[in-house]
Amino acid sequence: MNKSILHPPILPGATLGVLGSGQLGRMFALSARSLGYRVRTFSPDSDTPAGQVSDGEVAAAYDDLDAVRGFARTVDVITFEFENVPTEAASAAAEIVPVRPSGEALHIAQNRKREKEFLLHYGFPCAPFRLVTTLAELQAASTDIGTLAILKTAGFGYDGKGQVRLQNAFDAADAWRELGGAECVLEGFVRFEREVSVVAARGLDGSFAFYGPIENAHKNGILDISVCPSPSVSAETAAEAVEITRTLCETLELVGVLCAEFFVTPSGGLIVNEIAPRPHNSGHLTIEAHATSQFEQQVRSICGLPLGSAELLRPAAMANLLGDLWEPKTPDWPAALALPNVSLHLYGKAQARPGRKMGHLTALAGTPEEAAGLAHAARAALGGARK
Ligand code: AMP
Repeated sequence: MNKSILHPPILPGATLGVLGSGQLGRMFALSARSLGYRVRTFSPDSDTPAGQVSDGEVAAAYDDLDAVRGFARTVDVITFEFENVPTEAASAAAEIVPVRPSGEALHIAQNRKREKEFLLHYGFPCAPFRLVTTLAELQAASTDIGTLAILKTAGFGYDGKGQVRLQNAFDAADAWRELGGAECVLEGFVRFEREVSVVAARGLDGSFAFYGPIENAHKNGILDISVCPSPSVSAETAAEAVEITRTLCETLELVGVLCAEFFVTPSGGLIVNEIAPRPHNSGHLTIEAHATSQFEQQVRSICGLPLGSAELLRPAAMANLLGDLWEPKTPDWPAALALPNVSLHLYGKAQARPGRKMGHLTALAGTPEEAAGLAHAARAALGGARK
């Protein structure tokens, strides 16, 4: 049956609810408001990046399910902007309004064990892994997988947090102690050549749009620079990355936006590192570089509207601005803004801490390489410790 009969579109004027209140929620809210929607956010905090630009901000714990239900009664649809919302909150909200993407997609992506088992079950390429819950299991797993490996906590990891690299057989005990003995996944170390991501949107009617592959460089486990289109992957590898992402979206029956992060091996092979059923840091450049941004696609998809064109208008590069840049003094904003084709996004966070994502710069140019050079130059112009 045609889903649009069962689920009529949620039209401008309606109220969209967001679980979570960080920068992804902020850019979603800005996009939703420009389309004429109202936005309400729910998170444990107040005066948040998303709340500052929304019509209403509820501050309550995610496990306060009565508060979640009360919030759901004030909105027409709910989405989320980070994975670590408890699935019980998504289920409580779904008793009252549609939750898109579904709590099931959230449940899989928020835990590395479930994510890896999902990838393996459906035949998606992923690094060899073992689930470990004791030091003895870790030692046995490193014999299986090899001594060069990464131990990652199963839950609540992001930006390289909750990870320890193992170089030899003696590292296991230290690594186990460092991660607090929590349920972990031991992953074989992948000797990749580069990292790319594909950001995709899937509509209520199954329509599909994608951005990328976008090429990503990390520093200390945190995304540093993204460039689109990827200047170095072959057309075949790019097409395969898009097809894997399309199949991921279909397998998850996703309604919303999803990012698939890949390792590209020296022979051009692809390994799925992570999936996130939401807009992604590597997709921030879509705001300036593409006909429709990842955030507008999230609005359109969760509202049951047609997806927008994901056409690339100009090659682009995005540089993250971490709190380190605020040392020794506030960044020199006019110096970066003096450069042509550079856009500044700040997330309204009062406290700059090392490693905290405070904003980003997007640069547009004639080629992806030139865009990357301009993004680096714009960030260097800000001064500070991190160039
Ligand atoms: P993650 O939080 O899992 O995305 O990891 C953060 C970063 O650590 C990745 O972007 C990679 O640069 C690196 N990394 C994670 N897992 C592996 C792996 N199995 N092999 C090699 N590098 C990895």
